[in-house]
Amino acid sequence: MTPDIEAQAIKDNIARVQAEIATACAKVNRDPNEITLVAVSKKKPVRDILSAMDAGLTHFGENRLREAQMKIPAIAQQTDKEAIWHMIGHIQSRKAKHVVPLFDTIHSLDRPKIADYMSEVAVENEKTASVFIQVNISGEDAKYGYELSNWQTDSAVREAFWQEVKAILTLPNLEIRGLMTMAPYSNKAEDSRPIFAELAILHDSLREDFGLALPDLSMGMTNDFAVAIEEGATMIRVGRAIFGTRQ
Ligand SMILES: *Cc1c(COP(=O)(O)O)cnc(C)c1O
Repeated sequence: MTPDIEAQAIKDNIARVQAEIATACAKVNRDPNEITLVAVSKKKPVRDILSAMDAGLTHFGENRLREAQMKIPAIAQQTDKEAIWHMIGHIQSRKAKHVVPLFDTIHSLDRPKIADYMSEVAVENEKTASVFIQVNISGEDAKYGYELSNWQTDSAVREAFWQEVKAILTLPNLEIRGLMTMAPYSNKAEDSRPIFAELAILHDSLREDFGLALPDLSMGMTNDFAVAIEEGATMIRVGRAIFGTRQ
């Protein structure tokens, strides 16, 4: 059989990303096993995801419900390997009832209403939803995420968010893994460093004040995942470096 060139390209890309993860970890004395590589497969076909699974990946990220509803069952049918699905996109309230049962982890809890819905649906489905609270600390007008750019200087912003976290923690059947952020796009990875460093500080403050493990930090994409690892990421969400550019 002629080897599928696309499959080989994906395999090579994964090897390259894993080498870069190892390099970043070595720089800051971290164990690469602490890092979960979430391969962002949005807009990519089932075939490419199966190739990535053949190359050893397990974690996949999608950002649209409709697309995931087609791809996730198709993949389950075509392989015995296990895939773990991460929802990384904004969730419309009325879609929560479909998102919670379909995904293993949700990175985009970005407002009180969606927290309430996710909890309700998780209870109905008798499952615990594993979630990240998405925050915006860059100060740029990102579309989604709790607006926290001034949390260190404005005590009202900090207090409001602490109250919000407190409320989320009382909701049944939600397991808060930690925080997620997106740095504004830049082709210079270093531009993201202050944002990732600040997310790590926020994460530590929450852990300390609430006495919680909050084990994960979801940050870093194709252009800046090495920097994110240096600043403490435990989950990186990488699309283009694995699957190539998107339309
Ligand atoms: C698309 C996307 C990614 C991956 O971006 P790449 O630049 O392809 O690595 C990561 N996180 C979120 C939230 C995304 O929407």
